[in-house]
Amino acid sequence: MTHNTQSSDFPFLLFRNYEEKLLFFSPVILNIHDAALRFLDRIAEELGLPMKKIEVCPGKVVSIMTWEGTNPALKSILLNSHTDVVPVFQEQWKYDAFSAFKDAEGNIYARGTQDMKCVTIQYIQAVRRLKAEGRKLMRTVHLMFIPDEEIGGHEGMETFVNHPEFKKLNIGFALDEGLANPGEAFTVFYGERNPWFHCPGSPGHGSRFVENTAAEKLVSVINSFLNFREKEKHRLNTSECLTLGDVTTVNMTMVKGGVAYNVIPAEMDVSFDLRIPPTVNLQEFEKQIKQWCKEAGDDITYEFAQKHMNQNITSTEENDPWWSTFSATCKTMNMTLEKEIFPAATDSRFIRAVGIPAIGFSPMNRTPILLHDHNEYLNEQIFLKGISVYKRLIPALANVPPLPDEA
Ligand SMILES: [Zn+2]
Repeated sequence: MTHNTQSSDFPFLLFRNYEEKLLFFSPVILNIHDAALRFLDRIAEELGLPMKKIEVCPGKVVSIMTWEGTNPALKSILLNSHTDVVPVFQEQWKYDAFSAFKDAEGNIYARGTQDMKCVTIQYIQAVRRLKAEGRKLMRTVHLMFIPDEEIGGHEGMETFVNHPEFKKLNIGFALDEGLANPGEAFTVFYGERNPWFHCPGSPGHGSRFVENTAAEKLVSVINSFLNFREKEKHRLNTSECLTLGDVTTVNMTMVKGGVAYNVIPAEMDVSFDLRIPPTVNLQEFEKQIKQWCKEAGDDITYEFAQKHMNQNITSTEENDPWWSTFSATCKTMNMTLEKEIFPAATDSRFIRAVGIPAIGFSPMNRTPILLHDHNEYLNEQIFLKGISVYKRLIPALANVPPLPDEA
């Protein structure tokens, strides 16, 4: 999941050993890209798969391992994951956040256990087992490793989806990260909310008209946003069928202004972090923001630090060949699926933006959602089960018969 405020200067997680019994994670302080890439090179060699590396932006390398299908002309399956993680505050952790400590219950503690090194390794192990059994799949399968998801993906997936090398992959369907589910069910995500950031109201030249100060305008803008926030919160809390991904979240994140206690400032700024579900009409929503600014007074301007207008969602209709294969395969394993809109942003939004259906799915049930949190962990049994889940899902998807537009 994308973490929008952090810099990239933190250790990447590395899999020192991919043995299924234990996961080892190790921080690599120097040359993090190289180390992660070296690990992936070794895996590609072991799996006997060709590996392609594309430097999408300076220093941002996307790696792709390809398992060619028996009919490579057909659209391929993408297994996507990202290699970066968010920073840790070691003092808040029970165990070293990069030691992959396994406690008596089999819970493995490490940054990235849920987000999303578990999935990366599950893809790899599932492919390893399938290959060991001599299985041949009809469609080509690509394992893609992205370096910068946690800082927004702008120099990774967002740029790469428009790269000629991406088009060459001829992707028909993609799997990417999801979230843990504390209950028995598994959550699948078919769309994401759009992040809109930093919407400063600069309430004009208040110094000359004490009646109409920047601060008053600021308060009015803040009230409009917070009233809306309360309404959305109420909507979420009073409806059984809404989840966090279905409503717009608003959080005031920064307020700036003022020079001295006896000087009325000429301008003041406020910033909000907005996450908007794909069901909201974004043009209408921006009109609403304009209206709030107008109501607060003259000379109020706003801007967006990030504004995503893409509202593609992936079909979860039973007549969709990809979804029906995905859901039917899960059913054969007695898995219950809960369909949701992802409450934050992942690289899937860039994949969907170029028209490729993508499902966000990290096979973790009976697990509290701890991504980006202190003491992130995953139980080894859940982790191991996930390998068998992908071992069924990957061939099922790669053997979806040719679609009408592929004939
Ligand atoms: Zn993630």
